[in-house]
Amino acid sequence: MNHEVIDGIPVLWAPAPGPLEAELIFGCGARDETLRTLGVVHLVEHLAMSTLPRLHHDHNASVDLELTRFTCSGQPEQVVDYLGRVCAALSELPLDRIDREAGVLEAEDGRVAASQTAELLSHRYGVQGLGLAAYRGPGADRITVEAVQDTLFRYFHAGNAVLVLTGPPPAGLRLPLPAGARPDRAGTRPALLSGRSWRQEDVPGPGIALHGGLADAALMAAVAVFAQRLRDSARHDRGLTYDVGGSLDNAGAATGEHTVYLDAREGREQTVSELLWHEALRLARDGVTEAELAEEREGMREVWTDPRNTIAELGHAAARLLFGETYRDAPARLDALTAVTPDRARRAFADALRTALLVVPCGVEVSPVLPDGTPVPRHRCTHHTELPADGEVFKPPLADRLRYSAARKTRFVVNHAGVWAREPDGEIHHVPFDDIAAVEVRGPARIVYGRSTCFVPVVPDLIGDIGAATRAIDAAVPAHLVYHASALRSAD
Ligand SMILES: [Zn+2]
Repeated sequence: MNHEVIDGIPVLWAPAPGPLEAELIFGCGARDETLRTLGVVHLVEHLAMSTLPRLHHDHNASVDLELTRFTCSGQPEQVVDYLGRVCAALSELPLDRIDREAGVLEAEDGRVAASQTAELLSHRYGVQGLGLAAYRGPGADRITVEAVQDTLFRYFHAGNAVLVLTGPPPAGLRLPLPAGARPDRAGTRPALLSGRSWRQEDVPGPGIALHGGLADAALMAAVAVFAQRLRDSARHDRGLTYDVGGSLDNAGAATGEHTVYLDAREGREQTVSELLWHEALRLARDGVTEAELAEEREGMREVWTDPRNTIAELGHAAARLLFGETYRDAPARLDALTAVTPDRARRAFADALRTALLVVPCGVEVSPVLPDGTPVPRHRCTHHTELPADGEVFKPPLADRLRYSAARKTRFVVNHAGVWAREPDGEIHHVPFDDIAAVEVRGPARIVYGRSTCFVPVVPDLIGDIGAATRAIDAAVPAHLVYHASALRSAD
């Protein structure tokens, strides 16, 4: 891999067959947003791309949890032209096109993770950082010009960019971006919010998240064997599942979230969820075989040493550089995998299983227990079992209370600490005023989102006369966390 610097931007390149491929990568993604500004990075990307004329060579741009990429391939002069145009656009973004691009963004499926992974990340990290993967945010038409400018200033400059190329930099290549300081991520690493638990969500099948080292070869190997066993049992043997997937997301401080998920044939969600936990326990107890490890190692060798993977490998190195992390090349990673013994893989998996978060489809009930007998509890929003005695109490409309026992048991309370709700089954939800991620305004209604993933809908249909509750919320919540529901979405 070759290193150069052009206009203050590191350039990593390695030769590969085919046309010249380029990726201009910024260390900025959805995890750098907040619930209030969710989608702003994607909007910046769209605004920049909207300035390009019609181009006939391959080009694209994307935003994931960590990175924003402007990519293209073609003749060297086409690559030079494309990268110059992208840099020029980022230096003078057409802010007058925000309204139009907001509509385009709403039409696009901008999900940054599979739904199980997204839910698991939000269960672990809350409504911040990686946890934002599960959220749609306020809608692109509710992103302010100030948020766009702030994002540009903080992230889209020469100090937070790396260019990767599958050949030497072509003659005349310039990357004219404003100078800037690399964002300091030390203070913004999301705290690890929650340990092991399970919960139900609207997902197409179960998933599991294990917290561990980002470069832990033993855990990576064990997780790969685990996913393969699920493929063998749920798909090939029993025909319950179409797809088994997984991801490893960077949580900062050299740690990562390993997720494995699978879908379930309709009506078999319970069976597939039990199977997932059964296979996890089996691996933690009985371990893996030498043959299984060798199989996974061969699979990774095949991918990592394929010349078509050159651009992805360069991108991997670029991300490590942007985040101040150690880059290990493919031979070093393969050496580390070769050193993993079945016993090390089993221990790494068993240790990580103590951090397990489990998500299952709504309606599925599980009672997972760790190998040492420790139960994995069902997630509860709060430890409170009663509503507070102080504060104003709101009940559902009288007509509902007369007709439905659920309405008779539902209560809302607003007090100095925040908003509270009691569900008919007795579960208490609570969003403290000092822990609010955002408040959505829908006419008289307020949807109050807490950073812990708990939210309380304060709406007339549920509470009846909510005027006093609305006034208390409006008085307590800072204006910059409040937005009006998007005009681009239907009120559901
Ligand atoms: Zn809750």
